[in-house]
Amino acid sequence: MAKRDYYEVLGVERGASEADIKKAYRNLARKYHPDVNQDDPDAEDKFKEASEAYRVLGDEKLRQQYDQFGHAAFDGANGAGGFDGFGGFEGFGDFGDIFDMFFGGGMGRQSRTGPQKGADLRYDLTIDFEEAAFGVETEIELPRTEICPRCHGNQAEPGTPIHTCAQCNGTGQVQHVQESAFGRFVNVRPCPTCGGEGKTVETPCRECRGQGRVRRTRKISVKIPAGIDNGFRLRVPQEGEAGTRGGPPGDLYVFVTVRPHAFFQRRGNDIYYEMPIGFVQATLGDEIEVPTLEGSVKLRIPEGTQTGTSFRIKGKGIANLRGYGRGDQHVVVRITTPKGLSAAQKDALRAWGESVGDTTTHAPGNDKGFLGRMKDAIDGFRGGE
Ligand SMILES: [Zn+2]
Ligand SMILES: [Zn+2]
Repeated sequence: MAKRDYYEVLGVERGASEADIKKAYRNLARKYHPDVNQDDPDAEDKFKEASEAYRVLGDEKLRQQYDQFGHAAFDGANGAGGFDGFGGFEGFGDFGDIFDMFFGGGMGRQSRTGPQKGADLRYDLTIDFEEAAFGVETEIELPRTEICPRCHGNQAEPGTPIHTCAQCNGTGQVQHVQESAFGRFVNVRPCPTCGGEGKTVETPCRECRGQGRVRRTRKISVKIPAGIDNGFRLRVPQEGEAGTRGGPPGDLYVFVTVRPHAFFQRRGNDIYYEMPIGFVQATLGDEIEVPTLEGSVKLRIPEGTQTGTSFRIKGKGIANLRGYGRGDQHVVVRITTPKGLSAAQKDALRAWGESVGDTTTHAPGNDKGFLGRMKDAIDGFRGGE
């Protein structure tokens, strides 16, 4: 289903002020709030749609991203790709998940009874450059809420009775009619006696003190795919906080930071490496050894190589995250100027300089050098007078 434009959802102009957006959202939220629309099955969807639109348009930064990219700004999940800053990556799940993570659950369900999905969790993981390049399976320690293993979440000490709540007859909610400026409507709230559980226990479970959930620190194995980069995040389904009233657990989001490498730099899936070479090697040509992520390889430097020249070693870059192909390694050579020459070496170098007819600017077979070009430019300028 095509997603409606957020401005259209809220019924405001694209240039609408913050206050107008807020006002438009308030009106819609009031109109479609699930608590006042028990009989309208579409109301909840409309409420969610408006809430989602407001979460984006009501936030300056997200609104900017939306203006620039549209829904695709938050939609790396569907293969749109390219929004790395936002963490676009396949397999993140749907839009709702992303927002649940940032905003702590849909507003529409805060006051709902019945099963609720557990909260999503965030874990920040730092990995090495090589681990990002080749992928890694790692264990993380995650403190989280889980279903109590003693009572299995039903809150009662095993073997003790559980009663259906007398006030709400097990529905977990109570209704009362409210008169307000917007008319008369039935207001539904979680039952105050059972807290929305629909049941009461005589003897609370002693492990969880009747909460049905306990805190645990778990070791979770996380598979980081080859090719992941700084700022990406991975969704690990159902490893978040336990749900309530039989709801499913939330998801775990692993936010990845990649440590910089001592001498490799990454751009996209390519690796850049700056290689110092001697002035004689550059002049005469040579075969050099270049480090890569998988040991060193030989590279031919042709005669007369200039500083800053880049050579490509195919396929020695980083794996494509989507599983096909690999980047290249670029070797940029920097020519080092010899230092600390002996008197004899200096004489030899001077003799060579004189032999090529210019002691300051250029080597044989090359262009005129900087001074030569400068002179040409000045001559040309004069000629034009
Ligand atoms: Zn328990
Ligand atoms: Zn009750």
